[in-house]
Amino acid sequence: MVISPKSALPVPVFSLFVLLLFPASSVAQDQYALKRQQMVEQDIRGRGVKDPVVLGVMGKVPRHLFVDPSYRDRAYGDHPLPIGEGQTISQPYVVALMTGALGLKRSDRVLEIGTGSGYQAAVLAEVVREVYTIEIRKDLAQRAELTLKQLGCKNVQVKYGDGYFGWEEQAPFDAVIITAAANHIPPPLIKQLKEGGRLIVPLGSMVYFQTLTLATKRRGQLDVEQISPVAFVPMVGEMQKK
Ligand code: SAH
Repeated sequence: MVISPKSALPVPVFSLFVLLLFPASSVAQDQYALKRQQMVEQDIRGRGVKDPVVLGVMGKVPRHLFVDPSYRDRAYGDHPLPIGEGQTISQPYVVALMTGALGLKRSDRVLEIGTGSGYQAAVLAEVVREVYTIEIRKDLAQRAELTLKQLGCKNVQVKYGDGYFGWEEQAPFDAVIITAAANHIPPPLIKQLKEGGRLIVPLGSMVYFQTLTLATKRRGQLDVEQISPVAFVPMVGEMQKK
């Protein structure tokens, strides 16, 4: 009898290996746990993200619940996916990269511009104390709010509106994350950032590629550092009038 290479590793041995790596409860509760862990290892740690908090959170937040059921099987691939209205949920690696770059602390309060599916907000909510997120498309804002509520995310507030103006009543913020392409940093967001706080934004052309840019506020001015090329959907509303 010829044993094919595939059957060389008896199934029970492989199952035992999986169960040792991932406790039975998490595998049973979430059929995507294995795919999510593979995403963390290959696409996030494998591409240089080392922060254990970020890696832990990316391995925990159920990304498949932020996309349409027809896309669930592709939710852990390293690419953006459509979320309706021509918008996208960002690539997991970029979510991890942006979250890590902000150097967040547990006690922080963060403002996000561009709620989209709510996935980035859910990731942030596992890292910091409070997340405030603004979405300019009403349907997306409502859907994200519902998803976050269903997942029991209690420290995220979603607002429908133009994020260009920030969220004055909740300012100042320890960090600001803009998840849509911008050709400049909106002055109200700089104003609402704490001294020493960080802001991350895909900055440059609104149509093609941008440079992921990290800005730190020192004495009211921004110190700017370029991180990597990215491609985001454009920020609309007031941003496009400038
Ligand atoms: N962070 C999202 C993905 C962002 S896609 C996620 O995790 O799924 C970019 C989002 O920014 C889109 O939903 C788009 O509608 C929104 N957007 C564009 N311009 C905006 C603005 N001026 N204010 C708030 N949201 C905006």
